Amino acid sequence: MTRIGYIHSTESFGSVDGPGIRFLIFMQGCHMRCRYCHNPDTWKTIKSGNSGESGLSVTTATVDELLDKAERYRSYWGPDGGITVSGGEALLQIDFLIDLFEEAHRRGINTCLDTAAQPFTREEPFFSKFERLMKSTDLVLLDIKHIDSEKHRWLTGHSNENILDCARYLSEIEKPVWIRHVLVPGITDDEEQLKQLRLTLDTLHNIQKVEVLPYHTLGTFKWEQLGIDYTLKDVPTPTAEQISRARKIIS
Ligand code: SF4
Repeated sequence: MTRIGYIHSTESFGSVDGPGIRFLIFMQGCHMRCRYCHNPDTWKTIKSGNSGESGLSVTTATVDELLDKAERYRSYWGPDGGITVSGGEALLQIDFLIDLFEEAHRRGINTCLDTAAQPFTREEPFFSKFERLMKSTDLVLLDIKHIDSEKHRWLTGHSNENILDCARYLSEIEKPVWIRHVLVPGITDDEEQLKQLRLTLDTLHNIQKVEVLPYHTLGTFKWEQLGIDYTLKDVPTPTAEQISRARKIIS
């Protein structure tokens, strides 16, 4: 049976989610509830048979349909580009991801996984699937949203222990990783916490880049549309100095 992926949206010319120009695939579904999420419309997990009842613009696609669409833009990718799969949380559809990345590699397409790793565990059946997925993944963009687990839970609804364990596992297998940290004034920019994050990253051997992503409010209208209370209403976006200071500490 051909496996189906539940897709929130795609973008043809991504230039910041991995190297080069990339075709971006945003998968539907996420179990985290980050207070600054700019895509809350990706949260709802869609299962076979209920894709039409959510009222959301979710499409379904097979691996070949997605890759055929992506390859229309292949001439723009250059030597470094390819596809990036993001979300939502792409790992919630790990079986589909395995099929997608393995077929992408058969077609000679560079693959990048953008994840917050919330589903990560070394328990089965997930772990064997993740090991297999990593064999056809060229780069992982790993979000670390807060180094303090309790603050991480407040910010996202989940603790960070398994996410940090995912970072350790990726180091063990020497998978190239870019770390991403969203900088939210007063919430994720505490100097001591940033230094702690840097110390943690120093224990890893596979980090190619650390990106500070400034908090922005471009997605707040979606919270209103979905009738969800946006709790960071009074939080400003970071200043250039705040961004520069954070970059000096963790990048
Ligand atoms: S992990 Fe990403 S998609 Fe999920 S809630 Fe957080 S920011 Fe939103």
